Amino acid sequence: MISTKNNNQAISIIEFSDLSWKQIDELPKEKTVFFLPISPMEEHGPHLPVGTDFLTAKDTAKDAIKELGKTHKDITCVLLPPVPLGFCKFNTDFPGSISVSSRVVREVVISFGSALAKHGFSMMMICTYHMALSHLKGIYQAMHHLRKKYGMKVCEPWSPVFHTDTIEKQEPKLGFDTKKEIHAGFRETSLMKYQYPYLVDPCYKELQSIYRNLSSPKMIGKTFKELGLKDGYVGSPARADADYGRWFYQLTVDTYVKAAIDLYENNELPDLPGKVKSMMKLLFWQ
Ligand SMILES: [Zn+2]
Repeated sequence: MISTKNNNQAISIIEFSDLSWKQIDELPKEKTVFFLPISPMEEHGPHLPVGTDFLTAKDTAKDAIKELGKTHKDITCVLLPPVPLGFCKFNTDFPGSISVSSRVVREVVISFGSALAKHGFSMMMICTYHMALSHLKGIYQAMHHLRKKYGMKVCEPWSPVFHTDTIEKQEPKLGFDTKKEIHAGFRETSLMKYQYPYLVDPCYKELQSIYRNLSSPKMIGKTFKELGLKDGYVGSPARADADYGRWFYQLTVDTYVKAAIDLYENNELPDLPGKVKSMMKLLFWQ
């Protein structure tokens, strides 16, 4: 029997770090989906922890695995060790942001994927909550490489949801545009109020709404402080609502569950819209 962790819940999950090479070798090669959470330590305003993206990617991946354990027992899901890395150079003028280049992100994802592929595994899902295009560039280039060189089935399902209007179409009606809640604003503060209320500093209630279109050409290449974002957030954290957080969290879990099934059943996988991909191509390796 493979060792598992219980987390005091009925469904336990298989963590890669707990397995011996022999146990890994015995996993069903054609039926195992590996989940790789990867997001950087990054400032998230004066009110949220630097691990906001990392914690969310890790927790939603775990909950998706638990859900699949109940509904799709034919799929063996394995949680790879969550990787605290990503590109976030634009806000390293705050303490707490640790950025690696998109090239490093690419190398890390390729290293995980190729190590698995060399031993006969073929399915990996990348779970990231950090949506910066330079970070995604590393991930998408790595997926391209893993598909081409090893014929691996890989996907990163959250950015196609985030970088389209999928969320706005489904979310509860709020009366304001949540698309502008780019960083540590309403969406992420709501998420943290739901997941880790004790990690949210109550000062969020006093924070004024600040908006910037970070993907406009004028903004690219500038740091947050150069853009006048002196507190390190973009959006309206004061509006945060734990119920929205719960909904948003579940949308991510559902997205991962569906993508894992699609991966397993060889269905079409979520992908970024063409215009986002072209923007990504224009970015230099940083
Ligand atoms: Zn974030």
